Amino acid sequence: MDNKNIYEKYDWEKLSLKKLQPKIEKILTWIPSDVKTILDVGCGNGVITNILSEHFDVTAVDRSKKALSYVKTKKVKASADDIPLKDRSFDLAFSSEMLEHLDDKTLKDTIRELKRLSKKYIFITVPNGENPAKLAIQCPSCGYVFNRPNHLRSFKLSDFQVLFSELKVIRSHAFGPRTRYYQPALLKIKLKATPSSAWVPYYWIPKADRHTICSKCEHEFEYPYKFHPIASAIDMLNVLVSPKKPYWLFVLMEKK
Ligand SMILES: [Zn+2]
Repeated sequence: MDNKNIYEKYDWEKLSLKKLQPKIEKILTWIPSDVKTILDVGCGNGVITNILSEHFDVTAVDRSKKALSYVKTKKVKASADDIPLKDRSFDLAFSSEMLEHLDDKTLKDTIRELKRLSKKYIFITVPNGENPAKLAIQCPSCGYVFNRPNHLRSFKLSDFQVLFSELKVIRSHAFGPRTRYYQPALLKIKLKATPSSAWVPYYWIPKADRHTICSKCEHEFEYPYKFHPIASAIDMLNVLVSPKKPYWLFVLMEKK
């Protein structure tokens, strides 16, 4: 992650149980019956962790002190790529919506940590093959263009088969609210040909939700929307060529 402070400034209360309830119920049904201990890496505000801890012996890891203040189980303040715990300490290493936030080097080191700390299983959830540039916004202060939820990459099932090649995928499934993909070539044209105020319409992200923090300069702002005919035409074209698909990808792996 290029900027550590944004996670201290982040409004962690926005991540509520109400929104994530169906996902958490699904996660609980996926955890193999021989699992007793779980390491939750990048637990955020613990909205999932706290429920897991009602059923399992859970240790939570996050780099943000503010996020950890909401976590009600054992917790370790550490970066996912350098966790000060012993090898093979947990039946299951778990991580939900975290890997997509990592740069190349941090991702590599985080995956090494997940493999090292797990005794048997690794369970990952990530956005399902999204195109992060779909939610590109531009900071009015420094001009930096970034994905609004700070997603730097996307994953398909085949990526896990490469990144975790020593493990066996024992279950995988796309699940959750159906979200429209954005065709990369069309998106490229839109971002080049139209002003940043036309990129993210209100029907994607409502007005009330448009407060954000620049991941480069930490400037806080509301990103605007101003209708632009070309942006709108490209969005319509994209509806014709890009399917909607379930938002999350769940992948459960076992050490061979
Ligand atoms: Zn900025």
